[in-house]
Amino acid sequence: MRFSEIADTFEKMSATTKRLELTQHLVELFQKTPPEIISKIVYLIQGKLRPDFEGIELGLAEKLAIHALSKSSGIPIKKINSTYAEDGDLGGAAAKIMEQKTQTTFLAQDITAERVYETLYKIAKLEGQRSQDMKMKYVSSLLNDATPQEAKFILKIAMGTLRLGIADNTVMDALAISYTGSKENRQRLEAAYNVSSDLGAVAETISRNGLKGLDEFHVKVFSPIRPMLAERVKSEAEAIEKLGGEFAAEYKLDGERVQIHYKDNRMVLYSRRLENITSYYPDILENLPKVLKTTDVILEAEAVAINQDSGEFLPFQELMHRRRKYDIDRIVEKYPITVNLFDVLYLNGKDLLNEPYKIRRKKLEEITSENEYAKIVTQVIVHAENEIEDFLENGINAGCEGLMLKSLDAPYRAGARGNNWLKLKREYRNELGDSLDLVVIGAFFGKGRRTGKYGTLLLASYNQDRDAFESICKVGTGFTDENLDQFYQILQDKVTLKKNPRIESGMEPDVWFEPELVIEIVASEITLSPVHTTAKDSIRTGSGLALRFPKFTGKIRMEKAPEDASTDQEVIALYKNQKKVTQNVSDA
Ligand code: AMP
Repeated sequence: MRFSEIADTFEKMSATTKRLELTQHLVELFQKTPPEIISKIVYLIQGKLRPDFEGIELGLAEKLAIHALSKSSGIPIKKINSTYAEDGDLGGAAAKIMEQKTQTTFLAQDITAERVYETLYKIAKLEGQRSQDMKMKYVSSLLNDATPQEAKFILKIAMGTLRLGIADNTVMDALAISYTGSKENRQRLEAAYNVSSDLGAVAETISRNGLKGLDEFHVKVFSPIRPMLAERVKSEAEAIEKLGGEFAAEYKLDGERVQIHYKDNRMVLYSRRLENITSYYPDILENLPKVLKTTDVILEAEAVAINQDSGEFLPFQELMHRRRKYDIDRIVEKYPITVNLFDVLYLNGKDLLNEPYKIRRKKLEEITSENEYAKIVTQVIVHAENEIEDFLENGINAGCEGLMLKSLDAPYRAGARGNNWLKLKREYRNELGDSLDLVVIGAFFGKGRRTGKYGTLLLASYNQDRDAFESICKVGTGFTDENLDQFYQILQDKVTLKKNPRIESGMEPDVWFEPELVIEIVASEITLSPVHTTAKDSIRTGSGLALRFPKFTGKIRMEKAPEDASTDQEVIALYKNQKKVTQNVSDA
């Protein structure tokens, strides 16, 4: 397949922000793509080379890309730098540079998509001293044969800055339409994706064998499962209304979710975002097998930092110390953890996803002999508000964030947020000032002490139905100097030239970001707003909802994907609840 077909599609996609049009462009591309290469095309669309859990990272350094461009075009680096400065995007600049190239290539070959993929794969795999030279050689070999438009997208992909502004759901819609003729079948694709976390493999199967091919997707050790997520509730009464009768209440620990795959003495750990995080937790590999009575299992647990002396739980933030490549043994000793198991998804060759939770929990208890390091999460069975209230009180005293409330009869719904798992946090109960997890979508430059940094951030909630990020407030308080530096470090790599099509906002910040970073915010009130777009038209036509006096709590939620941020529906619920509370107060 010619790479120009892909470059053309990407070009068309960058010219629109409408989800339907984006889907249609993908459908046209997929219809031209042979099954041998569809998986690779899907990874490239997702901005990767392989599924996340394989940890193969794109990310050619800008300097190398500029050197390669200069080598292939014969145009001096200085000129490239000035075109880049004017254009603001190296891909765009590369297209212009290649138009003026002085070097001619004899016998230039058509570039195939296969060749681009294989070359990028080799680049991503290169390590060691001579790797820089080799990377440059590989990139310029592609650029030598590339048209200006191809050069643009080769560099954007290689540098990890493609950013087509589409979510996995849109890719699945397009695959369903292309291979089954109907978007309705997206759910079947989603089910296969949920147990494999590999959209390329799903695409290849459906393109070769149609819908029935998807039946071959099963839970497998070392293929991470997309995690089940919890809906938030505001009160014990709401939980009872949703779960009814008898259900499980568990401590909600404030740590990192870890999906543990173990078979034949090999153990691999995946994060909530399904990245391989095994290297951060050598202590889990060492200690967990000692408490397990099986060697063939997939478990879920919360790894929680603890105080070395007292053994008390410490907040999630402490685990960030473990996010490093070197010296991990010393860090493991300095920042100890406990592992708190809460689910078993597969055991001794058997998929347990469809078993009711009470059975899964029973099996978890059967296969674990707890010790100081690894425990099963504390659970009680509850029926009444006061029982939940008491248990919540105990949980908070033990250093938990709140409670998880779970239906005893529900299966494990991979990749889904629903009413079978509910989260109840302490602060949701009485106060108006709730905490929300919001996505950073833009920033305004700072003044005074904050010059050269992002002084104020523009934040958004997530709209699941429309797969969009809708602005909800600007926040400039609660930042320490260290936070300001941290934000600048993290966010400067996420700056985009134009607003990502999934962002909706009536505001124009100084810079737009790729919607990726999630931070925790408290606020005094939720009000109607003419500019912000969260829950627009839901409460009053023409108005959205906004946070009043928002403040950063100090928590950067690295473990959360943007789609895990607080939703417009949650904001609406909080708004209505707050009205009720105020009415009750004024009625009294
Ligand atoms: P949230 O991140 O606020 O949506 O809450 C869900 C998260 O709580 C999960 O992803 C887990 O990391 C964490 N968690 C803590 N304790 C439990 C538990 N007992 N059961 C399930 N998840 C838990």
